[in-house]
Amino acid sequence: MNADDPRIRYEFVHGQAVYFPSTNAWAEILSERALAGLPVSLPDAIAGWLQQYGQFEVAALGLVRARWSAQWHSLSLLRLNGHYYRVHFENVVCHNCNQRCGPSATPDTVAYAGTNIDSKDIWAEFDRLPLQSCPHCHEVLRHRQTVWLASPDAA
Ligand SMILES: [Zn+2]
Repeated sequence: MNADDPRIRYEFVHGQAVYFPSTNAWAEILSERALAGLPVSLPDAIAGWLQQYGQFEVAALGLVRARWSAQWHSLSLLRLNGHYYRVHFENVVCHNCNQRCGPSATPDTVAYAGTNIDSKDIWAEFDRLPLQSCPHCHEVLRHRQTVWLASPDAA
């Protein structure tokens, strides 16, 4: 598949070109394990991500071409109020009651490498998002700095 396939949306995020394949395009990219003749890094991890988080409106997975390597890397983004945040999605465990709280997102500052945004500005962006609380014990999930938590019946 070519990167300019109509099933792939292209957008600049934090000054970096990000390609957002449709569900259908992802299936093809993952079976070829490549896009535009370049290998896609960790296709199995991408398939797992899509299965766990692809259903959520606020979660987006894109592909970027890093200058330092001849392959595509995935980038997981949280899209809230028209802003993109580079995050790590996880099934967060509450530090207070040790129970799993379900699909959530935590800041991934390392994913900003190559954007020329300094860490002060990255944290200023994240600081606008309120930290979420554990649905079991109501403790704020500050250890993981959880900025998004799926509600129990979210899809
Ligand atoms: Zn808890």
